[in-house]
Amino acid sequence: MQFTDLALAPPILTAIAEQGYQTPTPIQQQTIPLILQGKDVLGGAQTGTGKTAAFTLPILQKLSSEPTPLVAKQVRCLILTPTRELAQQVADNVAAYARHLPLKTAVFYGGVSVNPQLEQAAGGLDILIATPGRLLDHLHQQSISLYQLEVLVLDEADRMLDMGFIHDIRRIMAKLPPKRQTLFFSATFSPEIKTLADSLLDNPVLVEVAKANSTAAGVEQLAYRVDSQRKRELISEVIGKKNWQQVLIFSRTKFGADRLSKQLQLDGIDAQAIHGDKSQGHRTKVLQDFKEGKVRVLVATDIAARGLDIEELPIVVNYDLPHQAEDYVHRIGRTGRAGNVGLAVTLVTPDDLPMLKEIELLTKQVITQQVFAGYEHDPRFNHSSKGTHKAADEQDEVKPKKKFSNNRKLSQEKARLRAELTGKKRPR
Ligand code: AMP
Repeated sequence: MQFTDLALAPPILTAIAEQGYQTPTPIQQQTIPLILQGKDVLGGAQTGTGKTAAFTLPILQKLSSEPTPLVAKQVRCLILTPTRELAQQVADNVAAYARHLPLKTAVFYGGVSVNPQLEQAAGGLDILIATPGRLLDHLHQQSISLYQLEVLVLDEADRMLDMGFIHDIRRIMAKLPPKRQTLFFSATFSPEIKTLADSLLDNPVLVEVAKANSTAAGVEQLAYRVDSQRKRELISEVIGKKNWQQVLIFSRTKFGADRLSKQLQLDGIDAQAIHGDKSQGHRTKVLQDFKEGKVRVLVATDIAARGLDIEELPIVVNYDLPHQAEDYVHRIGRTGRAGNVGLAVTLVTPDDLPMLKEIELLTKQVITQQVFAGYEHDPRFNHSSKGTHKAADEQDEVKPKKKFSNNRKLSQEKARLRAELTGKKRPR
């Protein structure tokens, strides 16, 4: 199947060709005709499958073929995303695909001044891409209205629920007209997701391109066994020895992300951290520098990294294992996108083995385990007998003997880290 078989208008086909896309991906082949027919769609698609174009292209087709004069503050199509980064990325894609169409689009998220958004909203919008918090602010201020909405897209719905946005979503839903087209995308389908989908969709068509919880085929997966006290040393050495040039590293905590990036800098590796405590300006700048190859290593927390699409990102490292096995799938989905090959390396301490098993059960694959030469297990390092996996920054540094010499300090540190972990900020 070709894009020309999909009944898309010439300005859209031109924009697709300019992006260098040759053929539609499976989700695009299945979803585009359904959306053009006006059907509600329940899409099970993991990241990297081309799902953004799968919903954006037919929306552009519909909005441009039924031009309606914009009404002040009214939005014709709303695309809701869980994070600012994803909102920006979807907005970039929409702008690229719509570049030959006279449609007015905008992206609203928190952490940036509201004034330009108020100006953009005033004249009405064909497409608004937004995160839930900032959108609610606009709805409360009545600077935007969804009263005349024609199409609603919920992107990465599972992540919205994980991030605690269910109440925000319900509040937004209460402002929507009952007659509309709804497109709902999620990589995983928990009972909560199904309930939310049921309440939003009208007789939807289910489209699934890859089994939920499966990993992209082009990603080689590898685990390095290592004592937790030597993880920092190992990752520096591997990056240097293997001459990796563009590496996205996942850290479980914000504190850990900062610490690891500083450590790598000390080792002469150009590294930066992004997480929820960094200003939006910083996050955008660092991400841009990383995409352009000006920063070699980006250390990110799960939330900050959500939705990152870096063309041909070759390597993802799980410095810490994620809290939930599902996050492993999201993390390594940053590489091997759109048919490219990628490498996902996971550092695994003895305490991490139960979580690794969980990941293998979920993804139905066995991850090859190796030991990097010189990093064989040292019996002097004590690991927790409980088998609970901990982020590297929850562990002691190399001197294990000192481990219990200052229990009070250690528990204070742990309590602080735990507070940091549980005190996730929502993007507004
Ligand atoms: P997504 O799953 O929407 O995040 O898309 C993942 C990546 O695939 C993005 O970098 C898109 O630019 C790219 N992409 C989307 N559709 C196609 C296509 N038909 N051919 C090649 N690349 C595509």
